[in-house]
Amino acid sequence: MMCEALWSERERVLPGKDDISRAAESLEGSDPQEILSWAIDVYGDDLTLSVSFGNPEGMVLLDMLSRITDRAQVFTIDTGFLFDETVGFREETMDCYRMPIEVVGTSLSIEEQVEQYGPGMRTCSPDTCCQVRKVEPQKRFLEDYEAWMTGIRRGQTADRADTPVAGWDEFFGVAKVSPLVSWTSEQVEEYAREYSVPMNPLLKMGYRSIGCAPQTRPVQEGEDARAGRWADSGKTECGIHIANGKVGRA
Ligand code: SF4
Repeated sequence: MMCEALWSERERVLPGKDDISRAAESLEGSDPQEILSWAIDVYGDDLTLSVSFGNPEGMVLLDMLSRITDRAQVFTIDTGFLFDETVGFREETMDCYRMPIEVVGTSLSIEEQVEQYGPGMRTCSPDTCCQVRKVEPQKRFLEDYEAWMTGIRRGQTADRADTPVAGWDEFFGVAKVSPLVSWTSEQVEEYAREYSVPMNPLLKMGYRSIGCAPQTRPVQEGEDARAGRWADSGKTECGIHIANGKVGRA
């Protein structure tokens, strides 16, 4: 059902930081769809959804959103280091969902990056590379919005365990809404099965969390889903998400 009424042209009074915290408390325990509807009602055209096209959570959120409205702006970060499978899947999927999507990235080519920051920046060189290819482009993109939504869950990592349903994202200067925050991976999988949500083909090849090709490997049975990300370094976050519910980039 499309709820265009939620997208009315009325003048919006955007909530302040305290209002967002209060709303998050009252939305705690709500279904993701209720949280999505709240965010659409409050932010309308000033809301955007981040989808990586790598992980099940983003796809489930995209599917849920598409059942509420077809007007929501979707964005995705393309670092230039993505798997070909992810890029192909992204193109096919957005043809299915027919929602506006903006592919966001840096104008710096990999060659220019190497020239500017050194030869280590040709493959995966956390954290400067993430800063240049993910964080800064997202920051520029979000300047035109008041809120962004993401598929992160508390159960994914210890750093994400305190993530609120909604909160003020100091770094990006917008509200951040996480409708799936209290869901388990099983609930995500169940929804995906029930609604036949398309998934990145790499998920059937042992990958369980998919980012840039140079820093993503398949995981073994019993390994954490994110164990294949930056596996040989201590890095666990690219810097897009806050750590420990606090504003602090990895
Ligand atoms: S994950 Fe690796 S390749 Fe991708 S942007 Fe970050 S440092 Fe660069």
